[in-house]
Amino acid sequence: MEYIVEQLKYIVSGLPKTVKLIAVSKTKSAETIKLVYDAGQRVFGENKAQELSEKHLLLPKDIEWHFIGHLQTNKVKYIAPFVKMIHSIDSLKILAEINKQALKNNRIIDCLLQFYIAEEETKFGLDIQEANDLLNSLEFSQLKNIRICGVMGMATFTDNEIQIRKEFSNLKRIFNQIKKNFFAEAPFFAEISMGMTDDYTLAIEEGSTMVRIGSAIFGKRGTK
Ligand SMILES: *Cc1c(COP(=O)(O)O)cnc(C)c1O
Repeated sequence: MEYIVEQLKYIVSGLPKTVKLIAVSKTKSAETIKLVYDAGQRVFGENKAQELSEKHLLLPKDIEWHFIGHLQTNKVKYIAPFVKMIHSIDSLKILAEINKQALKNNRIIDCLLQFYIAEEETKFGLDIQEANDLLNSLEFSQLKNIRICGVMGMATFTDNEIQIRKEFSNLKRIFNQIKKNFFAEAPFFAEISMGMTDDYTLAIEEGSTMVRIGSAIFGKRGTK
């Protein structure tokens, strides 16, 4: 298990101070996460609501939990009491439910708009038109318990660096455009969540502020 801490330290030592590391601990046990916690990491990402709420119960309460997977409306209630940020907003419907659950918990929940930037057909996310419609809607303007802090995206799974770079720089362009049109006076709209194990160095070069790294820290998934 020591290799996990070594890998964590190696990654942290290579990150610019402006980039936040989200250690993606999905499928990993609470014991394994605790090892990484004890090495100093406080920010973790999960992609299943029930798995996240179970781990939240078992682990120290100063962990900052980020939700990074596709979120169904009926699962929001499991994470609303404690989740720090939800990276995967892809509809007004999910945002309205998060707002409702945040209100119940007397909280404001930070959210990122997930954009579809890859060539693959399977990935979730908004396009720029859908995001504009969402942000212009009356319903959105009435949601007081969510805060949109930026954007998130996943590049195509490919070895083609030029293509990956193009997709990340496209997300950065989308961020700038939305900031200018909707959040020019909002300092909290500042996050670009992009970059995973295989592409995070490219993502940082293209302007990422949050990298979501799983297997480079914990090893390949499928082993607890
Ligand atoms: C699993 C996952 C990651 C981490 O993937 P690795 O390749 O293991 O670093 C990042 N982002 C999302 C949305 C994920 O589902």
